[in-house]
Amino acid sequence: MVSHLPGHRNGSLNIGLMGGTFDPIHMGHLVTAEEARQQFDLNYVIFVPAGIPPHKNNVTISLPEHRYLMTTLAVMSNPAFVVSRFEIAQNEHTYTIDTVRHFAKSQNPEPNIYFITGADAILEIFTWKDYEELLRLSTFIAVTRPGYSLELFYETLERNCPQMKQKVHLLEIPALAVSSTFIRERVTLGKTIKYLTPEPVEQYIKKMELYRVKG
Ligand code: ATP
Ligand code: MG
Repeated sequence: MVSHLPGHRNGSLNIGLMGGTFDPIHMGHLVTAEEARQQFDLNYVIFVPAGIPPHKNNVTISLPEHRYLMTTLAVMSNPAFVVSRFEIAQNEHTYTIDTVRHFAKSQNPEPNIYFITGADAILEIFTWKDYEELLRLSTFIAVTRPGYSLELFYETLERNCPQMKQKVHLLEIPALAVSSTFIRERVTLGKTIKYLTPEPVEQYIKKMELYRVKG
């Protein structure tokens, strides 16, 4: 539960939700969230680090607490960015629909929810649990990553889920090819990660000796 939205008194809100493993959070995530905040007039972007995502079971993921703390360190300087423990606090795997339902009810009056996700992930949305309710409760901001073909996006959307079209907006982000995988690999190889993630995150990774051994 995000009980402390900085500076919020009352009135209706536009809330962006940014889910991810954040292992670690990086400039790609932050630039995306900031761009979404501005373009969609979001009052807040809430970063929601995942508990244990099912599709990443086979690789080693850092402890939720590490990922939560790194995310918190990364958003310190932005008054519109906050971090939620909602998913990491659950003992079992949570679905996006549970998170969206939670935040849809988190304020009075109910906020408008914008779910920010990669355009590649959104193409699979019709395989997600209760996706119709998901589309009813939230608007999707589909972020295109470098090298991503918009044509494929629209074709797949048209074929699988034409009714979604007005609930999905595309957001093109200036070429940012950085990924968490790239950062982890560089740390494992002893290479610098300066400027790929905020400095406090870089220092945290060093202090806690994360990613030193290949996961
Ligand atoms: P990994 O390499 O471990 O898969 P990741 O960099 O993709 O990590 P995630 O935590 O999996 O990061 O991603 C969280 C969300 O951020 C997803 O919706 C993903 O599509 C999006 N995202 C990741 N990297 C970028 C980037 N460079 N630019 C824009 N969006 C990104
Ligand atoms: Mg990813």
